Amino acid sequence: MATTLARASEAMAAAGVDALLLGPGADLRHLTGYHALALERLTLLVARADGRHTLLVPRLERPRAEAAGVPEGVELRDFAETDDPYALAAAALTDLPPRPTLGAGDRLWSTFLLGLQESIPAASWLRASTVTRALRMRKTSHEVEALRRAARAIDRVHAGVPRLLRPGRSEREVGRDIADRILAEGHERVNFVIVASGPNGASPHHETGARRLRAGDGVVVDIGGTMDGYCSDCTRDYVVGRSPEGYADAHTALEAAQEAACAAVRPGATAASVDAAARDLLTDAGYGDLFVHRTGHGIGLEEHEEPYIVAGNDLALEPGMTFSVEPGVYLPARFGQRIEDIVVVTDAGGERLNTLDRAPVAVGG
Ligand code: ZN
Ligand code: ZN
Ligand code: ZN
Repeated sequence: MATTLARASEAMAAAGVDALLLGPGADLRHLTGYHALALERLTLLVARADGRHTLLVPRLERPRAEAAGVPEGVELRDFAETDDPYALAAAALTDLPPRPTLGAGDRLWSTFLLGLQESIPAASWLRASTVTRALRMRKTSHEVEALRRAARAIDRVHAGVPRLLRPGRSEREVGRDIADRILAEGHERVNFVIVASGPNGASPHHETGARRLRAGDGVVVDIGGTMDGYCSDCTRDYVVGRSPEGYADAHTALEAAQEAACAAVRPGATAASVDAAARDLLTDAGYGDLFVHRTGHGIGLEEHEEPYIVAGNDLALEPGMTFSVEPGVYLPARFGQRIEDIVVVTDAGGERLNTLDRAPVAVGG
């Protein structure tokens, strides 16, 4: 973990940033290993370019911070209920130049940022992601292994989904069973369970609800959790009984599009080119207008992070980047389909961490 902080300090120095001020969230966890609770009391990592770091925590959080094993070189300071945490944050910066350049955590709540801006009025501010973005996007081999374990766990959950799908069961009943399986397979947290049956499948982020499965439904199942801090996210399609009219043709095109996008992943290719690989195939097959979202999102400590696999993103992919490839086809009032794998950029190309078959799985109807 100390090496991550050291790399952050180097990146700060290169960017002309004196310090990063990070609240609870993925950046703080990435740099320190501390999974801080997001509370109304300030928790703040002051990470400096010169390597003199301070972690400010409310006194009652000190045991959790100590248990997390805050890395060497970080001074852990707690404050009492009656202390002014903003003054303490300012004190951790007093020996910097009179007009320091500070990076505020992108997820730092505005109430905290406004308090810090009052107590450090001479500073100029930018987003911490100016510095943390590159560090977060390129995963270490340890991080890739964590994502691989999470992907395997969610694949095991999908492998058990057919047993849960029966006509008459509601999306919600199926969703609860899936959530239990996500935990049973080793995740510490369920992040989301989308069970979108029949016409509900046409809404990509459908809220799993009361609709009961029927013969002839296509069912989109998109699920994910957090395992050892890293996220899983995988979508597969299921059919109850006979597939609806047009379903098989659309899915054949979708499988080809998802395959083409995965094949387009390699170092140096742009994020936009991966999106285009899926989109062009679906457009040629006549489904382009029904693919209503970007092809994917980065994944790591957060479910959605950079890089975004979307038209216009000219970012060149690099080994260690991890993201979803998840094209979909949505026919309003009829059905939806999406195939989602997490892909890691390797020296040779791209490797899918999710490996289950991608054809729709037929269950008894
Ligand atoms: Zn989504
Ligand atoms: Zn996703
Ligand atoms: Zn998903």
